[in-house]
Amino acid sequence: MVPPNSFRHETEASGLRAWISKTPYYKLRHRAFLLFTVFALILPFIKINGNQVFLLSFLHLEFHLFGVSYDMQELYLIPLILILAFVFVFLATSLGGRMWCGWGCPQTMFRTLYRDFIQEKLLGLRKFHLKTRPLKLQKWPERFKFLLGILLLTPLMFAASANILWFFVAPQEFFYLLLNHPQEHTFLFAFWVLLALFLIIDISWFGENFCHYVCPYARIQTVLFDEDTPVAIYDKARGDNTDGSRSNRNKKGVVDSSGDCTGCLACVRICPAKIDIRDGLQLACIACLECSDACAPVMQRLAKKNLISWTSEKVLAGFKLNLLRPRVWYYATIIVIISAILFYSGGNRETLLLNINRTTQLYKLKDEGKSVENHYVLLLTNIDDKAHTFTIATKNLNGLTIKRPRRPFLIKAGGRVRKVLIISTSKLLVNNSAGNTSLDFIIRAFATDDPENIFSEHSSFFMFPAAGEVRMKP
Ligand code: SF4
Ligand code: SF4
Repeated sequence: MVPPNSFRHETEASGLRAWISKTPYYKLRHRAFLLFTVFALILPFIKINGNQVFLLSFLHLEFHLFGVSYDMQELYLIPLILILAFVFVFLATSLGGRMWCGWGCPQTMFRTLYRDFIQEKLLGLRKFHLKTRPLKLQKWPERFKFLLGILLLTPLMFAASANILWFFVAPQEFFYLLLNHPQEHTFLFAFWVLLALFLIIDISWFGENFCHYVCPYARIQTVLFDEDTPVAIYDKARGDNTDGSRSNRNKKGVVDSSGDCTGCLACVRICPAKIDIRDGLQLACIACLECSDACAPVMQRLAKKNLISWTSEKVLAGFKLNLLRPRVWYYATIIVIISAILFYSGGNRETLLLNINRTTQLYKLKDEGKSVENHYVLLLTNIDDKAHTFTIATKNLNGLTIKRPRRPFLIKAGGRVRKVLIISTSKLLVNNSAGNTSLDFIIRAFATDDPENIFSEHSSFFMFPAAGEVRMKP
């Protein structure tokens, strides 16, 4: 049976729960990091219908989401996607508190890699359980090791920043441009280098201060928390002495030992955010739960339960675990609705996008006033996954002739073509002696092999000159 004051149970669990219970949080986190890293590295290479799962390409002005390619003209979807991402974050925070910070955030992953693997395991510069202790760099061997640590971090951060860029430039294209045309894409590669340098400085110097002072997510989380949100929490009722003191804080030497906390400070010394969880939840806490790992053996020796758990305030007070609260349902409902809209719009989107601009000239008189031309610039984007031959027609206004383009033209899958459209008339469309007349009509572009399904129509106007300007018969 799981005790009410913890998601983990040290002794009585069996099966998967026993495995999770007996494994320290830091080991579970390391496995989560490995999983996230593999996922982030292979995601840009996964293609559905020839499109990435996620790609926001500024080079090609297109956006891929779950294998559907959207043109930049369909950017009305971006706000929906942003709302979806935010609500998903709200939902995850309500369900798991700051679990993202300690278990999935690249900042924490890179910090763990640098501090716990490179500096501690490889170079022996620090001790795992003494994260708050500053590095001693007085002697040359330590200084050399410190520099070596940054050198080892450098290629990893270049790989990480390339991985981030692969969600904006497809990895195949990134490598092709890097190997063949780097000088033509200096902005892209300068950005790559700057991002890598930023990561190196951030991870090696700024560290958890970034989470505390810079990260906006840390700021908004407190408003997303309630008494049911699981957090890293110290059992004050059990740990503190009855007079409210703690054994390590009794400066006069009179130790009130009624509380379970021994004052060993193991939880404080291991905390990467340099906080004392016994003072309550703080903004800097990243929910890594290393304080809980540190307290577990101390309490085990005394045959007592861990004083620091990943649980909610209410559960700690003896109430039942309540994950599915109304706010969780609200967030889940919004996610379902927005996902349905995105799914629907992905399946019912236009396969041809048409953008029309008139040239600055209102009209052009030809054949000494016997015909009138209007000029337009069309931008056509074929967002179907096949190439098609397209042609242009006019609707809702008789007497118009298309002079350009003369023949149907091919647009490859995902391709974009600019065309000058010249529409002419030799008929007296309107006899208005007062001035020019704007006549509404529709421009239709369609695929010649599937005109009923692959088409786009937009209204525009034909400017016809005043009666005195033209020499036409009605
Ligand atoms: S108090 Fe420190 S060690 Fe404990 S979960 Fe928060 S950041 Fe991690
Ligand atoms: S590790 Fe446990 S016993 Fe030691 S100071 Fe922290 S809460 Fe108290």
